[in-house]
Amino acid sequence: MTFNQLGLSAEILRAIQDQGYSNPTPIQAQAIPAILNGKDIMGGAQTGTGKTASFTLPMLQRLQPYANTSVSPARHPIRCLILVPTRELAAQVFENVKIYGNHLPLKCTVVYGGVNMDSQIKDLRAGVEILVATPGRLLDHIQQKTMRLSQVEILVLDEADRMLDMGFLPDIKRILALTPQKRQSLMFSATFSKEIKKLASKILKQPILIEVAKRNSVSNLVTHVVHPVDRERKRELLTYLIKFQNLEQVLVFVRTKNGANNIANQLKSDGISATAIHGDKSQPQRTQALEEFKQGKVCVLVATDIAARGLDIEDLPHVMNFELPNTPEDYIHRIGRTGRAGTKGWATSLVCDDENELLEGIEKLIKTKLTKRIITGFESKEAANLNAPKNISNKKERHRHNKGRNNVNTHTKNKSILETNLKKHIYAKVKQSKEPQDPLFNHPYVPAKDSPVKNKLSSDNTNLDSRSTNANKYNSFHINRRKKEDLPALFMPNPINSTK
Ligand code: AMP
Repeated sequence: MTFNQLGLSAEILRAIQDQGYSNPTPIQAQAIPAILNGKDIMGGAQTGTGKTASFTLPMLQRLQPYANTSVSPARHPIRCLILVPTRELAAQVFENVKIYGNHLPLKCTVVYGGVNMDSQIKDLRAGVEILVATPGRLLDHIQQKTMRLSQVEILVLDEADRMLDMGFLPDIKRILALTPQKRQSLMFSATFSKEIKKLASKILKQPILIEVAKRNSVSNLVTHVVHPVDRERKRELLTYLIKFQNLEQVLVFVRTKNGANNIANQLKSDGISATAIHGDKSQPQRTQALEEFKQGKVCVLVATDIAARGLDIEDLPHVMNFELPNTPEDYIHRIGRTGRAGTKGWATSLVCDDENELLEGIEKLIKTKLTKRIITGFESKEAANLNAPKNISNKKERHRHNKGRNNVNTHTKNKSILETNLKKHIYAKVKQSKEPQDPLFNHPYVPAKDSPVKNKLSSDNTNLDSRSTNANKYNSFHINRRKKEDLPALFMPNPINSTK
């Protein structure tokens, strides 16, 4: 299938061509025609498989009849509202809308918290057809009466499961109540729990379910490895792994804001360039940290889960979980930052004994047993106990055994052994211990043949026959990708004002 077959307008096809995309991804091939037909959609696709374009391209086309160059704000009411959970994702989606709408005189802006409202108000007052927003800041604007949602025709909830969880739900309900009943609603996420699906079905009208990968599945392009280690030795191991593999770009996830600062500082004192991103940093600091990391100015970005969703860091090779996330779905989102757009990735987790339950939850969700690799010199005490001979009755023997166990912790003495060990074993031969159930998910970007979309929300089956595993096509897809560049004024008549 080609983009030409999807019924997109010449202006949109031109923007796609500018990006160097040769074929639609599976989610695009299925979602674009359905959205053009005005259907409500619940779309599930692995992260990094072109979800943003799958709703942005048809949305732009549906708004194309309204495109006009009038300077009157009344001629530019908000017709499409895209809600996302984080500021960084809002900025990213906004960039995408600008790129795909480059040849159309539709206006767009973005509003999110942590930055001054004034320039956002100016943009909104000038009128925009498309608004990308985080819920909190959107409600601030609604309260200040700087915008109205009464003419919204298309509503998009990106990372829908997060938007509908308990934290965001009250805000989302308030926002939905301000939009017209008669509207097209689109929801996209890489993970959907049963509860969220049920809730979503109340918001969507006769939705079409599009799942191009099994729900809650992970890409086979990502190799997972778990290193069992004691909590108090995680920092040491983190530095060790980064240094001795010469890792150049690693996104490290931790659970707390404090933890993120501490780990970043620790890495810096170990001679590794690092910065942290979390909710307690100011928005300019957050933006700067992400930019420095994207541009390769720092080797490690230590992040809380605010960076887990949707962020597209080109060709990021390595994600590390310094601590496992509290909810298994977040594992999928975290590691979804690597192995994107057809590239390979590594997902490494440092797991201490009291995280074993979390690990089991993750394995259950993704239906894959993750490979465990103990690094010599960093064995957890529990592992050392398990390996110990069971009946050590003789006192001398017991002493010898305990001495051996203590030696395990003197890893610095054995540095050369560790280096050799690490180089030889850890990454060269790691394989998934159990193949994911559907090998077709290896290649999320293989152009799909026509595939009937599902018409029933209740149906969970995926039409796997519609996907090809032709490796050459897959490779050429990736090679053909052109690096995105910042584009100047993208919408007519006024340049879009970025409020970042
Ligand atoms: P997303 O899942 O929307 O974050 O997209 C992941 C990456 O895939 C982004 O860098 C997009 O620019 C890229 N992408 C989206 N659609 C295509 C396509 N049809 N062909 C090649 N790359 C694409």
